[in-house]
Amino acid sequence: MTAAFPFVGGRIALNFVGTLGKRSTEQLERLRTPEDLTRWVELAGLGSISTDEADLEAARVLREALYTLTLATLDRAPLRRADVELVNEWAARETPAPALKIRADALRRSDPQPSASEVLAVVARDGIELLSGPESDSIRECEDPACTLLFVDSSRGRRRRWCSMSSCGARAKMRTLRSAH
Ligand SMILES: [Zn+2]
Repeated sequence: MTAAFPFVGGRIALNFVGTLGKRSTEQLERLRTPEDLTRWVELAGLGSISTDEADLEAARVLREALYTLTLATLDRAPLRRADVELVNEWAARETPAPALKIRADALRRSDPQPSASEVLAVVARDGIELLSGPESDSIRECEDPACTLLFVDSSRGRRRRWCSMSSCGARAKMRTLRSAH
């Protein structure tokens, strides 16, 4: 069975971190095979790539560095220089270059197929922008303790509590209703 990927983070980097779910309990790994990584990249709108086991391993290592740094910005983990260096290393790599082409006398965008490394560079750069920018103050973890998904709270009044109203939000509502009866 292939796992569904949550895209609730509001940022590429957080959505990528969310490919490992339920971190405090069962550790729901959604990147189990290279094909899973290909599928995530496609769903994230980052292109169509081919991947192998080495890419998968590299992706997971980058993901965990981004996760730990994000926790550190939430004051829930120490800042580790090794994580910073790893993310910087990926961000320094080449990213996909957009290109133009002429078709039927008109300009079109022609995106060459990125490599796995180029896509991970995009993820790392997004992480740097997120963690060093104004949105770093708005990073939240879903209030369902089993969920552990992270998101940028851009809601009015900054009162978003759940990764999604249709999953954790709905379950919390049910619990409230049940305890009221
Ligand atoms: Zn949640």
